[in-house]
Amino acid sequence: MPATPIYLDYHATTPVDPRVFRAMEPFFAVRFGNPASSSHAFGWEAAKAVQQARTQVAALIGAQAHEIAFTSGATESNNLAIKGVADNFRGRKAHVITTVIEHSAVLDPCERLEREGFAVTRLGVDGEGRIRLQELEAALRPETILVSIMAANNEIGVIQDMPRIGALVHARGVLLHSDATQAAGKIPVDVGAWQVDLLSLSGHKMYGPKGVGALYVKRGTAVCCQQDGGHHERGLRSGTLNVPGIVGLGAAAAVAGGEMEEEARRIGALRDRLRDRILERLKNVRVNGSREHRLAHNLHLTLHGVEAETLMMSLQEIAVSSGSACTSAARSASHVLLALGLSDEEAHQSLRFGLGRFTTAEEVDYASDRLVEAVLQLRELTLP
Ligand SMILES: *Cc1c(COP(=O)(O)O)cnc(C)c1O
Repeated sequence: MPATPIYLDYHATTPVDPRVFRAMEPFFAVRFGNPASSSHAFGWEAAKAVQQARTQVAALIGAQAHEIAFTSGATESNNLAIKGVADNFRGRKAHVITTVIEHSAVLDPCERLEREGFAVTRLGVDGEGRIRLQELEAALRPETILVSIMAANNEIGVIQDMPRIGALVHARGVLLHSDATQAAGKIPVDVGAWQVDLLSLSGHKMYGPKGVGALYVKRGTAVCCQQDGGHHERGLRSGTLNVPGIVGLGAAAAVAGGEMEEEARRIGALRDRLRDRILERLKNVRVNGSREHRLAHNLHLTLHGVEAETLMMSLQEIAVSSGSACTSAARSASHVLLALGLSDEEAHQSLRFGLGRFTTAEEVDYASDRLVEAVLQLRELTLP
């Protein structure tokens, strides 16, 4: 039997890879300099480490090092991108397009803009979880200033067609931002091929530390800083740099870049094994979201007749989630599942499985056995 609890919630956060941890360690107490200290070796050493991380993060997404700004995570990156662009258009009836399946770190900044007088269009998705390109095209207006579309969804793992979205938005001369927090390090991200101007990512979703992220800002893109101070990160984001975190993000990007393909194959096989072992033994289970355009480590199921909350209570040795970690405290049904066309009841009967770098076949087998057992038991109890 594998050690429990078994972690199958890699979309919420990931453990720090030991290689990343080792890279970070010296930067806490030994190489502790402030990269802004330009007058001595302590500062130079820290600045050099930050520069290396910048190059590593840039390499992961096909960018130039100077186009990477470090932040405290994807929430901040998204806020900086969206509000930072919008600030250039205040009082001008400007229009923003996003989707209904975004993370709250995109939805909420857009909602704030709307309260402040911007027009916001939220695109729906088809039954697979993908936006319709014709709808995007029809939504673009002369006064549209920004389109923000996530690359991969944090609940159902569905991947959007970023190259075609980018081509469409670019042809109209509109800026494109993508929240690529779940995509970076998992699928090839290429800011050139995607034609994005702004792209967010986060350390703790890709085996790096929490509290650090990055915003890619294409050279020449006007973004207003949201935090004034010592003019760090080329004036885009003031505040002394989180050097250990940034070094960790860089190391995580380097590891992911080198191992992505092989890792996706391995984890994809485990995910398929998990899915098949459940579907073979349980009736009335539906896989949510596209099977084809999907992160290799995501499985999302509706288990008809079983409350996800009750199921998770009886499955405490398996760490899964019924929604995004940020909204699962609130008991409202997932906005992503409702957008797919699920009923409120179905949404509450759904579970997200996120596999990852340290998931084993033994864990998958144990977890699927326990899940099937628990579902059968609960369904028996609730039979009339
Ligand atoms: C986790 C996540 C965020 C928030 O990232 P933090 O670094 O935790 O602020 C934003 N968007 C998506 C899609 C996420 O999965």
